[in-house]
Amino acid sequence: MRKTNKVSVIGAGFVGSATSFVLMTSGLVSNLVLVDVNREKAEGEIMDLAHGASFIKSIDLKAGDYKDTQDSDIVIITAGAGQKPGETRLDLVNKNVAIFKSIVPQVVKYSPEAIILVVANPVDILTYVTYKLAGLPSNRVIGSGTVLDTSRLRYVLSEKFDVDARNVHSYIIGEHGDSEFPVWSSAYIGSLSVSDYCKREGFNEAELKQAAYEEVKNSAYAIIDRKGYTNYAIALAVKRIVEAILRDERSILTVSTYNSIDDVYYAAPNMIGRNGQIMKVCPNLNELELEQLENSKKVLKDIIKDIKL
Ligand code: NAD
Repeated sequence: MRKTNKVSVIGAGFVGSATSFVLMTSGLVSNLVLVDVNREKAEGEIMDLAHGASFIKSIDLKAGDYKDTQDSDIVIITAGAGQKPGETRLDLVNKNVAIFKSIVPQVVKYSPEAIILVVANPVDILTYVTYKLAGLPSNRVIGSGTVLDTSRLRYVLSEKFDVDARNVHSYIIGEHGDSEFPVWSSAYIGSLSVSDYCKREGFNEAELKQAAYEEVKNSAYAIIDRKGYTNYAIALAVKRIVEAILRDERSILTVSTYNSIDDVYYAAPNMIGRNGQIMKVCPNLNELELEQLENSKKVLKDIIKDIKL
């Protein structure tokens, strides 16, 4: 019998295991399947998670293969190779495209109705690749995009302004990568624009914005320099997306979605519900932001054109 709220996670590395932990403790999921080419790694993670059973709501946990992912509501792909010293971004893309060619057909074979959520990097490119390989409607293939980067911006501004991060309303959009940018023209603290807030509190607006942007853009590098990978905040970002889908919340999140005019995936505020993407809800962008978005799309399209699918 089909169970409700079944989620499969492909890739049991730092991100896949942290995501499994967050989902397990969230109470949102009734079945969780973890798949990895390294079967023992997936088994070890599931054994460790399962030993917390008496502390959480009931959940079926399984380390399995693709057959075990059958009828998943959501499949989250965190599997992929990391960048090696001396390797170009395109080398990494091609390596991960090869990995995705082995994963995506299996995912679709067993869960043709699922929403596929791509987390592995470069996330916008691999979400595009997944869409092309899966043959599913684009609303059901989404990437984690800049949900994490947006949360980082909210955190950084909340620290600078000493205000609750949940009252910071601001988005990072575009590529999840070096060409991403904050939409300052619609950034608010409560109901006061960031510009007005800076004036009122005596901050140098230009300096504050530049410092916040740099901090966000470099935060993954800063963490990786210190601990070698990032996993907790991305796991929470993924849980937030899963929650919006499973509970049909119609939440607005900066996931990566398809743009058919440009044939590219990039992050923008999108309404998300039980069927995945409902619609883009992009704020009005000023001239500079429009240029930044075009640049981000170009960066992504330049990579896409060299991919052999
Ligand atoms: P990791 O190396 O710890 O884990 C990757 C896992 O994928 C490994 O366990 C490996 O065995 C598995 N794998 C490799 N090929 C596979 C295949 N064909 N089928 C199934 N499993 C396979 O890496 P990580 O730290 O967990 O990161 C995973 C990905 O998430 C990376 O691409 C990383 O850049 C990305 N990431 C994205 C964000 C974001 O905001 N989108 C944030 C952090 C990390």
